[in-house]
Amino acid sequence: MKGRSLLMIPGPIEFEPEVLRALGAPTTSHVAPNFIETFGNSLELMRTVWMAPTGQPFIISGSGTLAMDLAGANLIEPGDKALVVSTGYFGERYANLLSRYGAQVTIVSAEMGHVVGIDEIETVLKADQYKLLTFTHVDTSTGVRMDPQAIGALGKKYGVLTVLDGVCSVAGEEIRQEEWGLDVVLTASQKAIGVPPGLALLVASQAAMKAFHSRSTPVSNYYGDWSNWLPIMEAYEARKPSYFATPPVNHVAALEVSLEMIAAEGMEARFARHKEFADTFRSAVKGWDMSIVPREESNSANTLTAVYYPEDLDGNDFRMKVVKAGVIIAGGLLKGKPGYFRVGHMGAVNRNDIHATITAIDHALKQCRS
Ligand code: PMP
Repeated sequence: MKGRSLLMIPGPIEFEPEVLRALGAPTTSHVAPNFIETFGNSLELMRTVWMAPTGQPFIISGSGTLAMDLAGANLIEPGDKALVVSTGYFGERYANLLSRYGAQVTIVSAEMGHVVGIDEIETVLKADQYKLLTFTHVDTSTGVRMDPQAIGALGKKYGVLTVLDGVCSVAGEEIRQEEWGLDVVLTASQKAIGVPPGLALLVASQAAMKAFHSRSTPVSNYYGDWSNWLPIMEAYEARKPSYFATPPVNHVAALEVSLEMIAAEGMEARFARHKEFADTFRSAVKGWDMSIVPREESNSANTLTAVYYPEDLDGNDFRMKVVKAGVIIAGGLLKGKPGYFRVGHMGAVNRNDIHATITAIDHALKQCRS
């Protein structure tokens, strides 16, 4: 499209035209037979994308923060102990959120660009009995990626429910929810899932649902209470009409299209494509003699890359020049730290988009230095 820039921030991202067409199609009733089929099919497709054949999927109007809130509201009771493994901005958010539900929160954090070591997490888990552990799979503020398989295993070893904040990872990074023993894997629509902002999505394990059903206190969040939503999800999957709160009909239609496309690509191929694009982009970063925020290549995400500005560059000026070259990239999310920019490379991006981004950055660098 003429005059249109390429959106290469870490979400929202570029969306497939088919998804946008579904979003713009005439709205149907939320109990129309075709919509019931769309909703039911989307729930089933989530199990494929999440790799959670026996998980309970939820599709609810809202953003990623609501998905975080749903896990907190439904799994925490006042006085429960929760461990927040924080690698940046969204870990801090989770700690605040869980305290609102009366959790006694312990937070283990890493310095910017570092992961929290698996040994360090194990030491904390050994010292006390926690009900819940949350971690950010890919921290969007830094591009640091934690190892979900190791954390899932720790959760099983110490009898702790594990919650993976996958807002910046689901459908881009490798996640095998059931095989890795992760209890809640949550995300939002606007990132690698490939649907404009508006949906909170999560899949809960049987163990998480059991913990929910065993609560001795009611969920204090009315809208988010799974007692309201579980019958709705079950009804749609059984292809029956139901109502608690009006679902975002057009968004769910768009979600079905996107999930079908993701499933058709295949999860293994999709993980490999994201890795390839991340490697291509990071090779370019090396060529520019810049450094990425994650301290170790093995801990850097495949869905986005955060890059420190070289000392001779005015960050804002540089970013504006990239935008003028047709590619929108993001600044840093952490304030008061050395300046950096972020490039999202997830979802519907293709090789041409990656090369266009590299070319725009190249061009901006030359302009800044001429
Ligand atoms: N967690 C992570 C890792 C995120 O990247 C974001 C959004 N950037 C959120 C949570 C919150 O999601 P939302 O902005 O959709 O509420």
